[in-house]
Amino acid sequence: MTLTTRIVVAMVLGIALGSCIKIIHDQSILGTAIDYFLFDLLANGLFDIVGQIFIASLRLVIVPLVFVSLVCGVVSIATTSQIGRITVKTLSLYLLTTAIAITLALCFAILVQPGVGVDMALPQTFEPREAPGLKDVIIGIFPTNPIAAMAEGNMLQIIIFSLFFGVALKGAGEFAMPLQQTFERLNKVILKLVTILIELAPYGVFSLLLTLFATQGIGVIGDLAKYFFLLLLVLILHGFLTYGLFISLVARLNPLIFFNKMKSVALFAFSTSSSSATMPVTLQAVRDKLGVNSSVSSFTVPLGATINMDGTAIMQGVATVFISQAFNIDISFTGYLMVILTATLASIGTAGVPGVGLIMLAMVLEQVGLPVEGIALIIGVDRLLDMTRTAVNVCGDAMVSCLVGKSENEFNSEIFYSKN
Ligand code: ASP
Repeated sequence: MTLTTRIVVAMVLGIALGSCIKIIHDQSILGTAIDYFLFDLLANGLFDIVGQIFIASLRLVIVPLVFVSLVCGVVSIATTSQIGRITVKTLSLYLLTTAIAITLALCFAILVQPGVGVDMALPQTFEPREAPGLKDVIIGIFPTNPIAAMAEGNMLQIIIFSLFFGVALKGAGEFAMPLQQTFERLNKVILKLVTILIELAPYGVFSLLLTLFATQGIGVIGDLAKYFFLLLLVLILHGFLTYGLFISLVARLNPLIFFNKMKSVALFAFSTSSSSATMPVTLQAVRDKLGVNSSVSSFTVPLGATINMDGTAIMQGVATVFISQAFNIDISFTGYLMVILTATLASIGTAGVPGVGLIMLAMVLEQVGLPVEGIALIIGVDRLLDMTRTAVNVCGDAMVSCLVGKSENEFNSEIFYSKN
């Protein structure tokens, strides 16, 4: 079986068994002893432990992977002006695709009106998190202490430090050559580690989904069906249509091959709900399956996993309209423009871990004067949607990587069109 098939089988089994355990638990069908064994010891015990260890192992490789592969990538780039060009292109494309995503979300939500007729009882409490000011955010990107940045896993700071370090390493010339080679060797070892972890994915995916579906069934969709399925539709449309168009019209590549090669990455993102935990897998696929040279992919992928969240922006757009309709508060046209702007910023600020997009939604709601308590309305179905939007988030990173790689001649079409 290929890896993708094994992951799919693990997903189906995890969802099916998890759902069975939930039914048995909810209806106390088999008595307390068996229920205790299935629900507490297996779903919430053993498989939860395996799932959490799997996520921890993925996160474990992120910092060394980003640092080492980005330094190697920068060293292999011809000039510093090329680094500047790659940065500008990547950031512009990330912003553009996110703005398209949120506009699409707003259009559909205004048309379908998912929140009209929702019986709105004001939920009791929801504590919004204070959003940091723009000035602090910009200053905060630049590290004062690289070790602290790595210890905290502050991705943007790590990226900046790695860029500087890579430029300096290249600039140091002949004398620093042995260090360059050491980085290349380290890179090989870390990539081997990633490959080993990917091989273990089916077990991790099975455990994660079993625990999730044993504790949270799909019954929670209930009243929120219109919101849920509309959001799903926009996510799918953006993932296939927008990305497909960019891949075929701008990169001039076959989108079917792109989607086919992204299958296992998307499944990974779906199961972990974390673009950051999926990042090692995305990086490997973008380089080894899609053919984007590491000089570009080692920069675009970690950056994308940190700031590019199209799926999250879509959720924030649909959720804002939904909440405004549920509370019967009209957002004017300028209000919608504000949503596009703030949701783009909010998605940039969203960390690539489960559920953070919903927390950042508070910033969008506050900006357009909607009650932040509205978040409590949709929180119940968010975990399931988070899985899909994370898959869209990582596909967006890969798509932009292809575009930038292609435009910089840092792209290997043979790898893209090969069968691997
Ligand atoms: N789970 C998402 C991600 O990791 C972020 C979010 O929307 O909550 O990409």
